Amino acid sequence: MTENPGREADLLGRVPDGLLIGGRWRPASDGATFTVHDPSDGSVVKEIASATAADGTAALDAAAEAFPAWAATPARERAEVLRRAFDLLQERADDVALLMTVEMGKPLAESRGEVAYGGEFLRWFSEQATHVQGRYGANPEGTGRMIVSQHPVGPCFLITPWNFPLAMATRKIAPALAAGCTVVVKPASLTPLTTLFFAQLLLDAGVPAGVVNVVTTKRTGPVSEAILSDPRLRKLSFTGSTEVGQQLLAQAAPGVLRTSMELGGNAPFVVFDDADLDTAVDGAIAAKFRNIGQACTAANRFLVHRSVADEFARRVTERVTAFRTGRGTEEGVTIGPLIDDRAVSKAADLVDDAVSRGARVLTGGTRLDRPGSFYAATVLADVRPGSALLREEIFGPVLAIVPFDDEDEAVRLANDTEYGLVSYVFTENLARGQRMVERLETGMMGLNVGVVSNAAAPFGGWKHSGLGREGGAEGIHEYLQTKYTLTPDPFA
Ligand code: NAD
Repeated sequence: MTENPGREADLLGRVPDGLLIGGRWRPASDGATFTVHDPSDGSVVKEIASATAADGTAALDAAAEAFPAWAATPARERAEVLRRAFDLLQERADDVALLMTVEMGKPLAESRGEVAYGGEFLRWFSEQATHVQGRYGANPEGTGRMIVSQHPVGPCFLITPWNFPLAMATRKIAPALAAGCTVVVKPASLTPLTTLFFAQLLLDAGVPAGVVNVVTTKRTGPVSEAILSDPRLRKLSFTGSTEVGQQLLAQAAPGVLRTSMELGGNAPFVVFDDADLDTAVDGAIAAKFRNIGQACTAANRFLVHRSVADEFARRVTERVTAFRTGRGTEEGVTIGPLIDDRAVSKAADLVDDAVSRGARVLTGGTRLDRPGSFYAATVLADVRPGSALLREEIFGPVLAIVPFDDEDEAVRLANDTEYGLVSYVFTENLARGQRMVERLETGMMGLNVGVVSNAAAPFGGWKHSGLGREGGAEGIHEYLQTKYTLTPDPFA
């Protein structure tokens, strides 16, 4: 069921269905295709090319061939191409947002938010492109001059997940291009259409042939292995699960590839008894239910001081029961489907496990009896230690509350995970907030806010949540390598 089937059909007709290699769209070399589905009802959205390993190598051929000229292109010109892409994205924002909702399921308003967020990486890195600097100076002995310069690392392989189909692509492509690198992008096979549409936008913005290549495929392992084992590849940037990231790190080792890894999370959301509860509840709704809970930054464990736990639970439950579930294109829908039935089963299993260990269901706790991959927005109170959802990423609309008694216990529980992507803390006590900044093992922190993402900030995790940073002044350096040159003292 669609709000405007004619508009969707027209848009889907304009999405390329091939591989982008060397500036041309073409079918897979063996003609294979796969289908993309709408998670709100399981219907087929579009059929697109499924690359072979040879197609992956052909895409790397194109990236390697285009690299010298792109690396030599003045930074100002690279910046202007990215800026044109930013402008074109604003013009095509409604199309990109609708496409994301159709293939991924999030409500249209959230897709529009992702277009704004994802677009900012194009603008930010167009600005950063012209600010890459070296340095020149005497060595401490005074016997020579040291020159330090920055150079693009070379052709890059960028692998993106399905949960933010646009922003995870722009967060990698924009800094790579700004630095002078060329890329092969492999989007998730569940949500490739946004990347295909965006790649055409990049061509329209003036990105030269071969600078951005896209391989969609159902044969991920062989395609990825062919690219990773090729000595011309110099860098792998991956966003996805920690498990796949670990495998890819092993595959990147023989080539001693530069790697950036944006992996899983298990974010604690800590509410102290001195928190402003209205602020904490607003933060909780954003941190938990944005993207239907399918964000690496989603709050996974709500650690709430025992004295305010019941009131916090009552208020979030009131908000959650007012959500409207449905296809993301429908007016007023706040919760869409999960990405697929596997995700629904995972949420159901985690909730059942927590309930069997003594958690109380305040709302939800069930699959929805309708077509599509829907799970009810859920609030669980009194989640017991040992429950699987305290260790694993839930990746669904399930808010799990665990009471604590003092600050030390909150810190111990918050850090009790192998992940360290983001943490949220709500307190009106400044010194306590500062102590939490110092004590939490986390790459990012929201202090009295529930969403931290910003193109100008260094996004990334500690521990098993990853390596490297995307965005911020740091982001472009993931795609640059340093050269140090010594020359004699010119006065000697
Ligand atoms: P995933 O690891 O299953 O897949 C991510 C990408 O890797 C997809 O393109 C997939 O096709 C590809 N892939 C899978 N197996 C591969 C293999 N053997 N070789 C090469 N590529 C392979 O993750 P997902 O389910 O798409 O995304 C959800 C995960 O991503 C969650 O764990 C989430 O926390 C994480 N994530 C992290 C960030 C971050 O910035 N830290 C952002 C978004 C998502």
